[in-house]
Amino acid sequence: MRCRPEPGSGSVGTAPLADRYGRRFPYVRLSVTPACNFRCSYCLPHGYHAETGAAGPLSLEEITRLLRGFAELGMHKLRITGGEPSVRRDLTDVLRAAAAVPGVNKLAMTTNGTLLSRRLHEWMDAGLNAINVSVDSLDRAAFARITGHDRLDDILRGVEMALAGGLSMKLNAVLLRGVNDDELPRWLDYLRDHAVGLRFIELMQTGDNLAFFRDHHVRAGLLETELQEAGWQALPRAADAGPAREYRHPDYAGRIGIIAPYSKDFCAGCNRLRVTASGDLRLCLFGEFGIPLRQHLQRDDQLDDLVHAIGGQIGRKEQGHFLHEGRTGVTPHLASTGG
Ligand code: SAM
Ligand code: SF4
Repeated sequence: MRCRPEPGSGSVGTAPLADRYGRRFPYVRLSVTPACNFRCSYCLPHGYHAETGAAGPLSLEEITRLLRGFAELGMHKLRITGGEPSVRRDLTDVLRAAAAVPGVNKLAMTTNGTLLSRRLHEWMDAGLNAINVSVDSLDRAAFARITGHDRLDDILRGVEMALAGGLSMKLNAVLLRGVNDDELPRWLDYLRDHAVGLRFIELMQTGDNLAFFRDHHVRAGLLETELQEAGWQALPRAADAGPAREYRHPDYAGRIGIIAPYSKDFCAGCNRLRVTASGDLRLCLFGEFGIPLRQHLQRDDQLDDLVHAIGGQIGRKEQGHFLHEGRTGVTPHLASTGG
């Protein structure tokens, strides 16, 4: 029996949900829109086009009810993602509502950074306390080629502002063979005096990007070897760490994390659940099915139904993904699931 928090208590007092492999899920990633203003070559190379007849994104009220349900099940950390979350006009209201949910003690967001310099203070005032900004290249021309937009300078200005404002910050760069996999020296110059965590993410195959994946996938392990040879040291893994392997170097203010989804045991430490913009629970980024929750989000008195609907599905979570076999599940691209 799970205990229900007192309204406004600030803590739910429940251990996070656990699956049949003993993994716990204190972390939820919620997509607030499938839409995006970029055309990243590995994700939405032709830009975002709404599917005809597709359900729209959850409303602010539905999101608030959803998060209360997850908080009852031990969620402590929430990441707002998309698509591009900042294309949603009421994003600041979403952040404020999320920050007010009892039990959420870390509110993070992943963004392409296009509105960062303009909205940073508003988002921080609403309760955002961590941000990941995607910066696939520090070369302006390569950045424009990858994303379809010549916005690197403005995005880096937003990054500087966020650092100056004390926001906990990571940068994400997807490794692409022949496109940006020669940029380690440039990144090392940047990290010498920027106290950010840079994440190199190995390109993942999705339903739509097979040809691109075959041309540009490169093992993150190669870069990891380069780092080790340059004196970067692996940090011990914290018990609640995410999937990144973290490195530091005494001469650099920044740190480097490697996310290698094709590596052995990548899924063993999985600590997250995902919800799509229209309210489908996804037990895995590459799972074969979504579990619709929206029907449990229509009234405040449906909280128990929601909690049972989520809790009752955790046993269906697989031990690992099947990406090695080229099985990408129901994910055409990560914008659809909330990467
Ligand atoms: N639009 C936001 C952004 O780009 O940061 C949030 C959504 S995006 C889907 C989340 C993260 O997933 C980004 O860092 C993006 O680079 C990464 N991503 C998208 N498709 C990917 C793929 N096929 N393989 C690896 N990472 C991917
Ligand atoms: Fe948009 Fe993010 Fe996908 Fe790029 S990675 S197309 S910014 S959702």
